[in-house]
Amino acid sequence: MEDKNLYQEIPKEFYSFETNQPFDRCIECNTFLLDGKEYFIEKAIRKYRGYSATDTIFDYAICVDCAMKMRNEFSKESMTKLDAYFQSGILNIQQAEPTEKDLDMDQCLGRCIIKNQSLWDLDEYQIYAYCKGDKLFKGIPPYMVGGPAIDDVLPLLSNPTTDFLNGFYDRHFKPDPSLMEPTPSPRLVFI
Ligand SMILES: [Zn+2]
Repeated sequence: MEDKNLYQEIPKEFYSFETNQPFDRCIECNTFLLDGKEYFIEKAIRKYRGYSATDTIFDYAICVDCAMKMRNEFSKESMTKLDAYFQSGILNIQQAEPTEKDLDMDQCLGRCIIKNQSLWDLDEYQIYAYCKGDKLFKGIPPYMVGGPAIDDVLPLLSNPTTDFLNGFYDRHFKPDPSLMEPTPSPRLVFI
């Protein structure tokens, strides 16, 4: 029996923008997620300074199997550079102890996990969560990566890896072009 203190309801922040419900399918293989599958959720969000309104640039859920396959497509060169970057950054996902209390999303997502910038100072950011079935897994708390950290990471990727990620993006998303301005390529899908 798994410790139920390691799970909580999926916060609305991680609901699908399209359905306003939890994601129920893997974007790659379409497998049903809510019967105990392990998967990641990623959302890219544009925010407007001084306003609380946000736009979702893209969002999806991907099962662990597909996420691993994608990772294997990353070139060795890209992986080496990414590992070095993340080790030198603040990236600090603390393993959470099991607790009855739900994680506080404002706290989890309030600062860029790499550069420590406050959400309020960012125009664009991505948030990530690890889920199992219809629950958020608290052992890997959700986290946020700000636009400036993403801008650091993009040049670290080799051309084949960039092409691969852009291919994934183009296959799955057709965002409103106005959301793509002024940043031409917020296409980092990174797991
Ligand atoms: Zn899948």
